[in-house]
Order: sequence, then structure tokens, then C-alpha cells
Amino acid sequence: MFRKVLIANRGEIALRVIRACRDLGVKTVAVHSTADDSAMHVRLADESVCIGKPPSNESYMSMPAIISAATITKADAIHPGFGFLSENADFAQMVEDHQMVFIGPTAEHINMMGDKIIAKRTVKDLGIPVVPGSDGEIRDIVKAKKACEEIGYPVLLKATAGGGGRGMQLVESADKLQESLQKCQQEAKMAFGNDAVYIEKYLTLPRHIEIQVVGDGRGKVLHFWERDCSLQRRHQKVLEEAPSPALNTEQRTKICETVVKALEKIKYRGAGTVEFLYENGEFYFIEMNTRIQVEHPVTEMITGVDLVQMQIKVAAGEPLTLEQKDIQINGHAIECRINAEDPDNFLPSPGKVTGYHPPGGPGVRVDSAIYTDYSIPPYYDSMIAKLITHNSDREQCIRRMNSALYEYLIDGIKCNIPLQQRIIAQDDFIKGDYNIHWLEKWMKLK
Ligand code: ADP
Repeated sequence: MFRKVLIANRGEIALRVIRACRDLGVKTVAVHSTADDSAMHVRLADESVCIGKPPSNESYMSMPAIISAATITKADAIHPGFGFLSENADFAQMVEDHQMVFIGPTAEHINMMGDKIIAKRTVKDLGIPVVPGSDGEIRDIVKAKKACEEIGYPVLLKATAGGGGRGMQLVESADKLQESLQKCQQEAKMAFGNDAVYIEKYLTLPRHIEIQVVGDGRGKVLHFWERDCSLQRRHQKVLEEAPSPALNTEQRTKICETVVKALEKIKYRGAGTVEFLYENGEFYFIEMNTRIQVEHPVTEMITGVDLVQMQIKVAAGEPLTLEQKDIQINGHAIECRINAEDPDNFLPSPGKVTGYHPPGGPGVRVDSAIYTDYSIPPYYDSMIAKLITHNSDREQCIRRMNSALYEYLIDGIKCNIPLQQRIIAQDDFIKGDYNIHWLEKWMKLK
């Protein structure tokens, strides 16, 4: 096992990694920007290093600063968390070149899945069903028109380097195609430095269902069942649950086994999530995330497995000792993302938390790094906490979430707790009858 792990992240995920390391008897190093001097991850890690200015490209995204911090503190591994450098293959390679371990997949696998066109091609060849679409990049309007006619409108133009719900354009008919293609290419170039765009059939009423896996890098891959992340706003997840209310045992077993078989063939290492859209009983691959995800706690709650510890153990070269048959679904879990934002117009609401009381009791988990008198800096993601509840079945789990949201007091800033309370009270949500468009549609009506 490692002696010391540097965590190249901040906020609740940095705390999550610190906790996993402590449970494993591993020392931790926090890195932070000057805006995060008094952040909780800095206080709780065994050591900390200031790596630069508040904007993330001058600190949390600065590869030389992070490598230097790891070198001077003699860390033997780096955990990237999610976001920031977690899916940067150059960073993974740089860590290994400095004789440290990157807690994640190989640079080759990050590259393969980071390019959505290559990812789609690869998983298709491995036997995973994909969304119908263009075979690779589409550059010009003639080829785009032809591809769209074959696929059938509506279509979605997607940036091959896209992420975080950005770089997508919905096209309803041929007359809008040229304009949308140019716009998508320009945006992709600006946001990701790569203007390659491909075309996919736009699925009209799908759910977003994703499969959690961990591989040992030697050909053994375990799955931890699925999460349903269909409640989204602007392609960003708002609430997640496991298991999905839309699947039965046979359906979930089949897709999970398909995913495992495919990833065993490439000897995948580390934690990963294979994301699908699910419509009319069919699964369609959209992308694979080669890192731990925000919503991993719902999976931990229903399986009783510590995914972050497992990720660290695998990176340290330990074998996966669990067997697939030992990973059973126990009850139901829901996660509400708590964001520092105005629940009516979604504008960020940074500032000082003047009072803080997190909920508690059986089956309630809060992953957060905020505290009374903490000032939420304006530079980073607005997610300040994840509230997770677990109970014996979905109905009891919703009830527990309702009471936990009611107990959760955050004063001084605006946050989306009132929105989450309204969502879980809706009939459609209670029935489990929703898809990826449900939330936006409901918000317009209300
Ligand atoms: P990102 O990497 O930006 O998260 P994804 O490919 O994972 O992009 O897609 C994010 C979300 O966008 C999905 O959960 C879904 O809501 C929507 N989406 C993506 N592809 C399609 C599609 N072909 N049809 C309909 N919606 C889609």
C-alpha cells in the first residue's frame, strides 16, 4: 500500500479521498489555491501545499505545481478526484514519469475514452450497443446532410472532446443544419481546443442509466450495478438514485455483464462508469468516464462497498478480492446535489455560510466540506454538498430524503434545497416515471 497520497482536488471529493486514505492507514497531502487557505481539506489532510492563485488553471489545473508539491512532500501516488485533471492523459503520464502512481486508469485508456468518437468505436467493437450516428467526425455540410438523412432527424451534434454537458447542439430539421454545425464546431474549439464534431440520433424520451465498474488492470472487472441519473438540467445531473426504478433484475444483469465482458477484454484498471441512454427497453452507450464520479455514494450505500478505497487498492497493485456474486443490491439510495445557487434562476450564490446544521440519523450521509463561517469562493463549481439517504426500499428512501432535506440548514447563502424538496414531492418522481427531459419540462410549467 502507498505511504502517502497527494489529492489534486478540493471540496467534498478531497475530503472523501482523505477519509478513504485514513481508513487504509495512508497519509495525505492537500494542495490548495490562495482562495482555499481555510478550506476543510487543507485542515484535515496531514500536510498541505499552496500551489497557486484562485483561478483553477493557475492552481488545481497546474500540472507542474502539483507534481512539484508531490515531489517535495514525497508522496508516492496522486488521486485526482473528479473534474480538474482527473481525465487528463498527459497528467496521468506525467505522474508516472515522475515515479509516482496515478490513481486511475492508464493514460492510454484515458485517451481512448476521452475522445468520444474513438470511445464509441472501441466499445462498439467490444460488443457494447451505441447510439446510432455518424461513423466518426463530420467536417463539411455535404457529409453532414447525408449522415443526418441516414440517421433521421432530430439529431444531436456533439463535440468529440466534449464534457460537462457542453458542446452539444440539437438539430430538428435539415434547414438548421449548416448554422448548427458551424456553431457546434466553434464552441467545441473555444471550450475544448478541438473542433471535431460527430452526429448522433437524438433520443427523444430516454433515461440516463450508468454502470459502475472497477477493474484490476489484469483482466478482472467487477460491476456495482447501475445508477439512474435522468434528472438533469442543461445535461447536468441534479439528483441520482440506485437502483434505477426503470429496470428489472434481468435487464440490469444483462447490461452489467455486457459491460464487464467488454472492459475485461481491454484489462481496464481503476474505477469507471459506462454511461447509457435507455429507451424502449434498449441501451445505447454515450460515453465512459474514467474516474470516480460525483454520484458514486448511492452505489456505495446499496452495495456496502467503499469504491474510493477499492480504487486506491487497485492502483497500489492489490488484487480485487471480491467476487461478482458478493456484490448485491441492498435497499435503495438517493443523492441530492446541493448547490450554492438561487433555486429560481440558478445564478451562483457564493459567500459566507453564517449558520450550518447538516442532517443526520440512520441512513443519512452528507459529503461536504463546508462549515459555519466558511466563505464559498466564487471561482469553482457551485456544488457544496451531496446529501445521500439509504433505506430498505425506494418509498422509504424518499421519505428519509424528505426529512433530511428539511433538517438541512444552510444560512447566509442561497442554495437549491427548496428545489430538491419540490422535485421529490412530485407524483412522477414518486412513481419513478421520468426521463432526461422531465426536470426542465416541469420547471417551465411550475
Ligand atoms: P457530457 O460528456 O458532456 O456529460 P454525454 O455524452 O455524457 O456528455 O451526455 C450528457 C447528457 O446529454 C446525457 O445524459 C443526455 O441527457 C444528453 N444526451 C447525450 N447524447 C444524447 C442523445 N443522443 N440523445 C438525447 N440526449 C442525449
